[in-house]
Amino acid sequence: MNMSGKKTNTSGSDGFQRLNFLYQASIVALNAVPHYPQITSVFGKNMISIGKKLQLKLDHSVKRTICKGCKVLLIPGKSVEVKIKPIPASRKRKSRRGNQRKIQEWKCMLCSCVKQFVLNPGYSLWAEQNMDST
Ligand SMILES: [Zn+2]
Repeated sequence: MNMSGKKTNTSGSDGFQRLNFLYQASIVALNAVPHYPQITSVFGKNMISIGKKLQLKLDHSVKRTICKGCKVLLIPGKSVEVKIKPIPASRKRKSRRGNQRKIQEWKCMLCSCVKQFVLNPGYSLWAEQNMDST
């Protein structure tokens, strides 16, 4: 309810609050018990199922920190191994100039699921661009 006594009709606000709570709870749980990251997979699985049921989209910055395999929260050094590698020859586009682009590889320590992000020097997520302009 807002100040005038009418109900606000923000679609999915309750769902977003639940997702936010689960994400923060998984961060707290991982910091409290860093040697047992499996407990965060329960929160991750709940986040994915709530997002699917209510048709809510997770923010990219949140989505990048959840393992696709076991849904564990990915924190570098605690539950994920981060390496920087050159782009494999099979994925390179043919260009005349020497392309020295690299990828950042996140390998989950529990299920060995791999996420790869291409490193572009001038690239930032859309959400981060909006934060810079305000
Ligand atoms: Zn995993």
